[in-house]
Amino acid sequence: MTEMTRHNSTAEIRALDAAHHIHPFTNTRELNAKGARVITGAEGVWLTDSEGNRILDGMAGLWCMAAGYGRQEIVDAVAEQMRELPFYNTFFQTTHEPVAELSQLLSTLTPPQFNRFFYTSSGSEANDTIIRLVTYYWQLLDKPRKNVIVSRRGGYHGSTVAAAAVGGFDAMHRQPGLPVGNVFHAPRPAWWAEGGDMSPEDFGQKVARDTLSLIDGIGVDRVAAFLAEPVMGAGGVVIPPETYWPMLWAGLKERGVLLISDEVICGFGRTGNWFGCETYGTEPDFMTMAKALTSGYVPMGAVAVSDRIAEVLIDKGSEFTHGYTYSGHPAAAAAALVNLRILRDEGLVERVRDDIGPYLQEKWTALADHPLVGEAVMKGFFGAMQLCADKAGRVPFPEDAEVGIIARDHSFNSGLVMRAVGDRLIVSPPLVLSRAEADDLIEKAAVTLDKTLADVRRLGLT
Ligand SMILES: *Cc1c(COP(=O)(O)O)cnc(C)c1O
Repeated sequence: MTEMTRHNSTAEIRALDAAHHIHPFTNTRELNAKGARVITGAEGVWLTDSEGNRILDGMAGLWCMAAGYGRQEIVDAVAEQMRELPFYNTFFQTTHEPVAELSQLLSTLTPPQFNRFFYTSSGSEANDTIIRLVTYYWQLLDKPRKNVIVSRRGGYHGSTVAAAAVGGFDAMHRQPGLPVGNVFHAPRPAWWAEGGDMSPEDFGQKVARDTLSLIDGIGVDRVAAFLAEPVMGAGGVVIPPETYWPMLWAGLKERGVLLISDEVICGFGRTGNWFGCETYGTEPDFMTMAKALTSGYVPMGAVAVSDRIAEVLIDKGSEFTHGYTYSGHPAAAAAALVNLRILRDEGLVERVRDDIGPYLQEKWTALADHPLVGEAVMKGFFGAMQLCADKAGRVPFPEDAEVGIIARDHSFNSGLVMRAVGDRLIVSPPLVLSRAEADDLIEKAAVTLDKTLADVRRLGLT
């Protein structure tokens, strides 16, 4: 095996990084002032940094590491594929075995309406692809005015121009460069923050009704599709009240508005079923997939297209003038194939639904007893903890106190990666987490809460 240069000290790596690397979603000036943490290796659910610390990866990398780190069978399959055929495109009426096989495998894992797949290198590109497919579909049906996408405030759909526009992050919309019209943002079913005096059940119905009214106001003749994550991820793991999706789904179906289920996080077991739409009983016409599709070993995204859409595109359509150089990349397809077989053959999704999921949920939701925690919720292996100044009144901390960041840093330093979205601490561990590791995760989360509470008291915030 050829050696890569691995002799740089932490300080040297930080200096190179600070001088030459622009990080995503990062204030580079602030980062450079303190230096990035250097991750050097990983095994199972554990990361190692350049100082030799072992850190439990409660975020599965960036939501993608379902099968766990160090899967030799994925590494071997990718290496073998690279030796045989490292690259060829799928534009020129050509294909290759891994992508054909992956498509067949996906048709067996996805809900029954999905039998055809388009490939990308990321979730953002998959959402851009869907937006083009949806509007093309309506054009083929002589309804070119149906070109409005309704998505949600707080939704995350990626960072390409179109994906960022349909996303509901104000901070992204405030920075220029998103010249995309025809997008409307519906409210989000975030009961803790926005539910007021209503019960979660009533609030779920209210948000569903308000979404349908928004669609009716725009006009059903204009709205092409509703785009949403089954459970909002980057927006803070917003688990919708059980009443939300049934009412919304019935209303969309009645109006003939297509549903795009962004399964980039929820897909491949995160919510305890293969896809989030199965957890909530919707039947989308498109699914956006990425992240756990390959467990992040090699970048890959995909679009699932339902039979009724595919029939129109194929029978009535001509050339779909869209594609990426790396659509269906052989090494990525090889990684996806082995990764998905691992998830299937080791029963990792069922394990999250029936065994380790309920085990972790019980302990996680019990953290709600801590004085700092307003709510602690978890669906499948997808959890959030809201930190707040006053539990009973659901009073948040002032935003500029950045209590979430204080807690996130305590967590990292206690050996657990949690992410902070405002003052919501979120976890999304690899699906292979053991019971002992689940106990460890909870223990570290509890330590984090105690340390944060001490800071909050010192700062006079409670
Ligand atoms: C991460 C994410 C995306 C974007 O995927 P990239 O691979 O980062 O482009 C889209 N949708 C959701 C729900 C995501 O979490």
